Amino acid sequence: MKTTIFWFRRDLRLNDNIALFEALSKKNNVVPLFIFDEHILEELPSDDSRVHFIYKSLQSIHNQLQQYNSSLLVRKGKPEEVWANLLQEYTIDSVFMNRDYEPYAIKRDAEIKKLLDNHHIQLLSYKDQVIFEESEVMKADGTPYTVFTPYKNKWLSLFKSVDIKPSINYKNFHQTLYHFPSLKELGRVASPIRVKDFSLDIVDDYETKRNFPALDSTSYLGPHLRFGTISIRQVITQLSNENAVFLSELIWREFFMQILFHFPKVVSHNFRAKYDGIKWLNQESDFQRWCKGTTGYPMVDAGMRQLNQTGYMHNRVRMVVASFLCKHLLIDWRLGEAYFAQKLLDYELASNNGNWQWAAGTGCDAAPYFRVFNPTEQAKKFDAQNEYIKKWIPEIDTDKYPEPMVDHSFARNRAINKYKSEIIS
Ligand code: FAD
Repeated sequence: MKTTIFWFRRDLRLNDNIALFEALSKKNNVVPLFIFDEHILEELPSDDSRVHFIYKSLQSIHNQLQQYNSSLLVRKGKPEEVWANLLQEYTIDSVFMNRDYEPYAIKRDAEIKKLLDNHHIQLLSYKDQVIFEESEVMKADGTPYTVFTPYKNKWLSLFKSVDIKPSINYKNFHQTLYHFPSLKELGRVASPIRVKDFSLDIVDDYETKRNFPALDSTSYLGPHLRFGTISIRQVITQLSNENAVFLSELIWREFFMQILFHFPKVVSHNFRAKYDGIKWLNQESDFQRWCKGTTGYPMVDAGMRQLNQTGYMHNRVRMVVASFLCKHLLIDWRLGEAYFAQKLLDYELASNNGNWQWAAGTGCDAAPYFRVFNPTEQAKKFDAQNEYIKKWIPEIDTDKYPEPMVDHSFARNRAINKYKSEIIS
C-alpha cells in the first residue's frame, strides 16, 4: 500500500499544523515521522534541555495518536541515511513538510528533495512557522528590508487576518503502533531544566510591565514558537488592537528570520563590513567571569545566573549583558552569541544573531556604537527594589560578592574610542 509521510521538524503539534492538515486532507494512510538528527545531536550534550523538550513534545503527540490506534514513527540518524532506509521500507507516494528557513535546514531539505526526486516522489512544503515568509515582505524595488520600522509597517499593511485550520482528520493516520524509543535508547538523558508553559494572559499589561525582570510579565513563548508546540496563527488570533507592542515583538522575530535568509553571511560575519576592523580584546578570564555571573555588576550577574540555572533570561537583561560583553569587556559578540546558543531554551539562530549584532552595533538596524548601556543605571531603572538581583545573587549584600571588574566610565570611553578608531570608514 502506498504511504504518505508527514515529516515533523519544528512544528511539534497536531493542531493548526498546515502541512499535516494538507497531508491528511488529501491522502489516506499518513505516517507521521520525526528524525532525531545526528548532525545536530552530536553538537549537543546528552542532557541538552532543548532535546529533552522535543522528546516530551513528541511523546505527547505519540500518546494523542495512540488514542486513534495510530502512533509516531521516530528514527535517529543522519536524515539522508534515514530517508534512504525509509525508501526501502515503504512505498512512498508523497512527503509533506513545513518549510524551515535556517541555512542548515535549507541545505538538508534540498538534499532530501533530490533523493525523493530520484525516486519520483513528490515533496510538498508549506509555510507554517511565520505569518510572512522571507520574501513576502519586500521593499517596492523588490529588495529586502534591513531596517525594522519600515519592515514592520509593510508587514502590518499586508496583514489581513489569519486562518486557523479546523481539527485534523485522525481517520487518515496509518493504523500501526510503532515503538516509542526511551531517552536511553536515543542515547540521551533527562535534563533538570524544564521549559515553562507559555501564557498569553500577560499581553494586556505587556507594554507597561515587559521591561521589569522581577515581574513575571512576558509570555515565555520563545521555545514554543521555536519548536512549534503552538502555532504563530493561534497566538496572533488571541491579540487585539491594544496589543500592538506585543505584536511588534513577534514581527521582530520574522524581521530577523528574513535578514538571516537574505544575508546568510551574518551567521559568522558582521552585517556591516566596516565593523570588521574592530580588534576585540577577547580576554579569556574576562569572558569566564561574564559566563559565570561574577563581573561585580549585579544586573549582569543576575542575568547570567538566571540563564545558567534556568535556560532563560529576561529580554531587558539580555540587552544589558550583551552590551556589557561587547562594550565593557570588548569581547567579540560571536563568543556571547555562542554561549547563549548553548544555554537558551528559546535559542533561535536568527533572533540570537540579530539581537547580538544589534547589541554590538554591527547589525542591520543596530544600536549606535556610542550607545553604551550603564548596567548600574539599568538596574536602578528596571529593578529599583533589587528584587530580581537578590533572587539570583543571594550573596549580593555580603563581602563574598566581587567589586566591579572594570570601571564603567573607563570602559565606556575605551569602547567608544576603540570603535571610533577601528571602524573602517
Ligand atoms: P516576550 O517578551 O513574551 O515576546 C514574545 C515573543 O516575541 C518571543 O517569544 C519571541 O518569539 C518574540 N520576540 C520578543 N522580543 C524579540 C526580539 N528582540 N527579537 C526577536 N524576537 C523577539 N529571542 C529568541 O526567540 N531566541 C533567541 O535566541 C534570542 N536571543 C537573544 C539574544 C539577545 C542578546 C537579546 C537581546 C535578545 C534575544 N532574543 C531571543 C529576544 C528576546 O529576548 C526573547 O525573544 C524573549 O526574551 C523571550 O521571552 P518571552 O518568550 O517571554 O518573550
